[in-house]
Formats: sequence, structure tokens, C-alpha cells
Amino acid sequence: MSELIDRDKEFVWHPFTQHLTAGSPLPIVSANGCQLYAEDGKSYIDANSSWWVNVHGHGHPHIGKALKQQFETLDHVVFANVTHPKAVELAERLSKWMPKGFNKTFFSDNGSTAVEVALKMAKQYWYNKGEERNRFVAIDGAYHGDTFGAMSVGERDLFNRPFESLFFDVDYLPFPGEENKDEFFEMAEKFFCSGEIAAMIVEPLVQGASGMRIYTPEILDTLTLLARKNNVLIIYDEVMTGFGRTGKMFAMDHCKLIPDIVTLSKGLTGGILPMGITMANQLIFETFLSPQTEKGLLHGHSFTGNPLACAAACASLDLFDQRETWNHIESVNGWHSEFKKELEQLDHCTNVRLLGTILAFDIIVDSGSGYFSEIRKKAYEHFIAHGVLLRPLGNVVFFNPPYSISKEEYKQVKSAIRTFLETLN
Ligand SMILES: *Cc1c(COP(=O)(O)O)cnc(C)c1O
Repeated sequence: MSELIDRDKEFVWHPFTQHLTAGSPLPIVSANGCQLYAEDGKSYIDANSSWWVNVHGHGHPHIGKALKQQFETLDHVVFANVTHPKAVELAERLSKWMPKGFNKTFFSDNGSTAVEVALKMAKQYWYNKGEERNRFVAIDGAYHGDTFGAMSVGERDLFNRPFESLFFDVDYLPFPGEENKDEFFEMAEKFFCSGEIAAMIVEPLVQGASGMRIYTPEILDTLTLLARKNNVLIIYDEVMTGFGRTGKMFAMDHCKLIPDIVTLSKGLTGGILPMGITMANQLIFETFLSPQTEKGLLHGHSFTGNPLACAAACASLDLFDQRETWNHIESVNGWHSEFKKELEQLDHCTNVRLLGTILAFDIIVDSGSGYFSEIRKKAYEHFIAHGVLLRPLGNVVFFNPPYSISKEEYKQVKSAIRTFLETLN
């Protein structure tokens, strides 16, 4: 065991980890493009984009240059009663990427806080209008983050059981598919017309953490229309789906209708610095305008609008302004479609699904297909042995690489997945 691992074991508490049974962490000391380099010199392809965040590859020179310049110009400053050029530039540029009317950007630090802010905005929107609305609607299997509000609107499961007694009231809709959509819309309407719902929150088109479960833009449009008709706000949590992941800039770009509030994080800074953003339309913003201070959104974080994170996000948007980035996204999507066809012919693999740069399938297992299933560990270890860092969720394997992955690297991941399925014969 390396000295780094020894020191880690002595001093570090890792996320989502049972330290009694967890093995040693993988010591990664550097990264470039889609490659992660370990302490012992081995390299691994970053097949899940470092927890789904990286979009342009590691160490992108354009982002590096922007960061260095920003550090030398303005590293950090308070953001209450103060502004700075990169925050304004980012807000302006994001609003141009967004549907018309989305012209207010609220900064925070990560996906969970972006969701907290969205929930608070929705709740206070009604409060400011003099209406008491105390419930939210979410979808079974949802994941919106690990802070209390975000956990409250997420799936209630093993991950948050100790805290469940403190969660606020949420009504859950079943995950929508072609087979149950009538029942889904009926239930949604019933919840929405109660007059108690502050907002509905959804992961648009794909539920990430529940295993990359995909539903159609038509379903999302109908749900959004129902919310609108019943005067319920709708929040699209684009934390995972934003910034090209679904093949378009945002998942909502596949749809006809638009939400009231949008949350962004993960790929926002190119996936290299933490930042969350909650965007709202002018109408929502205006309900917070009042001579009374307490009608403002009295929320903030020490690092709100951090200039370095803003500079990284602006540099990442520069890359999205280039054709090359969209060509990369199209290439990954094309390779995924070919691989999908192959996977559909293979044994032990079912329910192959594809959206933009996300390819996912279920490994057929006899029992216990939850997160803790044995197959997860076996698959993870096989991929590591083949130079690929890919973390399945239970029996779900998904491949969502940085868009700049090369054809050679893609083939290596493909072969690791194929050989893993062969070990199950
Ligand atoms: C990851 C994720 C979050 C939480 O973001 P963090 O930065 O991990 O707090 C929220 N919503 C969705 C859809 C996510 O995928």
C-alpha cells in the first residue's frame, strides 16, 4: 500500500463510503484529456466524466489560461452589494443560451445548493404573493442532491433514512413511461389542483442517480402544461443534463415548453470547479421586489459568484461557441448508437438506452439489483483492471465520457464492457 493511501486512511472521510468495508481508494495524481493517471503510473479512462461533471476533458488549455488570468486579476470578493465582470458576463451569456425570459441568475456552490435555492425561490414566491403553499411534487427515483431540501424531494431510500423524519411533505408521481402515462398525468393533475403545491421538481428527460432512466420530451411537455394550467411552478433540475450531455445544450431544448426555474451545476464550469446556478424568469424575480427587505431572497454563501469559477464557466461557454465541441458531442452520440446495437445482441444485458452522450444498460442479475449488489463491485474491478474508471449504479452500467474522448479511448471502454459481459457466461 502506498504512503498516500496510508495517510488517506488515517485522515480522510470519503463521500458515500462505508469505511469499515471499503477497500483502498484509487490514488490519482494527475489527469489530461480523458486520462487519469495513478500514483503507480497506470492510466484510466474517465468513462463517467469524474462523477458526470467533466465535459471538455481534463486540463483544457483554454480553461487553464482563463483561470490563471482571473487569479491574477481578481480571485474572490464578497457578492452582496458588490459585482464583478465575470459574474455579469456569465449571467448574460447563460441567459442567451436559455429560453426567452430566463434573465435572472442566482449563484451558489454546487448542485444541491442550486436545488435548495430553487425550492426556496418557489416557496417564497407564494409567500410573497400572500399564499401559504407547503408541499412539493417530485418523481419516484429522483435525485436532487444531499442537503435537506434536496433530500426531501428525492427518493426516500437507504441513503437518507436516518434523516427522513425531518423531511418536508412531498407528493410522488411514479416514473413516467408509455405504459403508465395516463395514470401519471391523472395523479399529477390531482396533486396540482389541491392548491397546496408550491412547485414540481423534475430531472428533465433523464433521471441520473436512479440509473439513467429516460422518458420522452412529450411526457415532460404534457407535465409542464398541466403544472402551468394549475398554477403550479415547475423546476427543471438540469444539474446533470445541462451543457451538452443530452446532445443539446440543455435537456429542455428537446421540448416545446419551458419551466419556471432551472438549476445548473456539474458541467457548468467545464466540470473543474464547484459552482451552482439557479435561473428564474423575470416574473418570478418581480415577486421578490418590495420595500420590505424580507421579501428579497435572503440567501447566500461565502463563495457566491466566485470569480475563478465564473471565469472557468465563461471559458467553458467559449468552447460551446465552437463547432468542434458539438462535433465531439455528435461523434460520441454516433459511437454510442453503434455500441447500443451491439449491446442489444449480447447476453446478460438488457434495456439499453441512449440520450446524447449517455449510454446505459442493465446487467441481468438473478436477485438484488440495488446499489449494493455484488455485480457492481465485480464490474467496477473488471473495468479498473482494463484501464477504465467506470462506476456502475447497482446493476446499471452507464458510459458518459468527456465529449473529447478519442475513438481509440472509446474502443478501449467498449472492449472492457464487452469482456465484462463475457465473464458472466
Ligand atoms: C448531482 C446532482 C445534484 C447534486 O449536485 P451536487 O453538486 O452533487 O450537490 C442535483 N441534481 C441532479 C440531477 C444531480 O445529478
